[in-house]
Amino acid sequence: MITGGTVVDGTGGPAAPGTDVLVDGDRIVAVGAGVAAGAPPEAVTIDATGCTVMPGLIDAHCHVTFGEPASNDELFSHRPASTSMLLAAFNVPKLLRAGVTGFLDADCIADLGPALRDGIEAGLVEGPRMASGLNALLTAAGGTAGRLIPDEGGIGYAQVVRNRDEIVRTTRQQVKYGADWIKVHLTGSLPNRTGELTVWSRDELLAVTETAHALDTPVVAHCRNADSTLLAATCGVDLILHASHLDDRALEAVVESGAAVAPTFTFLANLADHGALVGAATAQVDIFRGEIEATAAVLRRAHEAGVPLLCGSESGFSLTPYGHWHAREVELFVDVLGLTPLEAISCATRHGAIALRRPLDSIGVVAVDAAADLLVVDGDPTQDVGVLGDRRRLRHVVSRGVPVDLDRPWPERDPLPGEHVGVWSTQLLTRDLVDP
Ligand SMILES: [Zn+2]
Repeated sequence: MITGGTVVDGTGGPAAPGTDVLVDGDRIVAVGAGVAAGAPPEAVTIDATGCTVMPGLIDAHCHVTFGEPASNDELFSHRPASTSMLLAAFNVPKLLRAGVTGFLDADCIADLGPALRDGIEAGLVEGPRMASGLNALLTAAGGTAGRLIPDEGGIGYAQVVRNRDEIVRTTRQQVKYGADWIKVHLTGSLPNRTGELTVWSRDELLAVTETAHALDTPVVAHCRNADSTLLAATCGVDLILHASHLDDRALEAVVESGAAVAPTFTFLANLADHGALVGAATAQVDIFRGEIEATAAVLRRAHEAGVPLLCGSESGFSLTPYGHWHAREVELFVDVLGLTPLEAISCATRHGAIALRRPLDSIGVVAVDAAADLLVVDGDPTQDVGVLGDRRRLRHVVSRGVPVDLDRPWPERDPLPGEHVGVWSTQLLTRDLVDP
């Protein structure tokens, strides 16, 4: 029983002060002024007076098995599956303690994702509700990791598919091994090209979407240019990540297809705004800012046309460590997309049902019969969504109807042997440098 708070219900509707929320098991059973009076005497009570009560955040783009690598080299060459699973089990409780009560991890190292999801549900590991993919499907042109991606076979989160037969077989295998989503890397970086190029053909992508849909499984695609977004929408991709630089044609196709979009501005914004603090290569900062602005201008129109926008943080890298940045996307939806705080909160809660493959309004909302995932926040996110990113403001997190212990120290650890790749130097030690 959560009494006396101001309820922001996640639907975009106005905040309701002085509202009680009654939970029984994993279900909200009553919402309204005074409903707490009908609670049984043994009910656990949380006094939310002066606080905001809202649905838990749903992060639609989180790489929980990556373990915060600082480079692709670390991610692909220094993360054995065994170590990655230990790291994931260590890291996934941080999400919950940061107010994330559900997330989609679309591509995992080795086969860890579905096992982690099932382990969380069975109570082996503390964590939010999780929807999981298996490996991302890539063509031999690769993705964002250049030649670290092999010509065939798998490495890290990637599975290279060589032809239609392999595409169909791998998609079916992934469903068999527990994938909730099939992830495709539609674009990749290639030498001497700016931006990412589309590295899949229409026939190849249709082989994925037709096979996956026939097995009642949705498809999510990494699209960092306009024509990949157009291709994804016209081939039936269900969730488009990034949708970078989408143009009018791509926008129209997305609106028509009914696909959802998770733009994931957070990674780029963290790099652009704070990268210099942590020694990141910041030569491309202006390019990233440009990508955010160009994409946001068109996605604003997508939002107006009814395209569901989802908040995803791309947590899992050294620039987006777990438990720190999950709510930044909500702020960016306000700042760069021009959404109202209530609309942006809806993108991080109600719309998250899509990422979790749950019926709309069965989770991510404060409503009777919805799942009992709730936050009590000391502050008013309808005025300043930034409070959602401040863990000190998080008074309570309720996951599946059970309060999470927020009083424990934040998990800390030492580096593992061989975890980080050293560099000999960041520039050449030339004779001139020593003796100008
Ligand atoms: Zn990603």
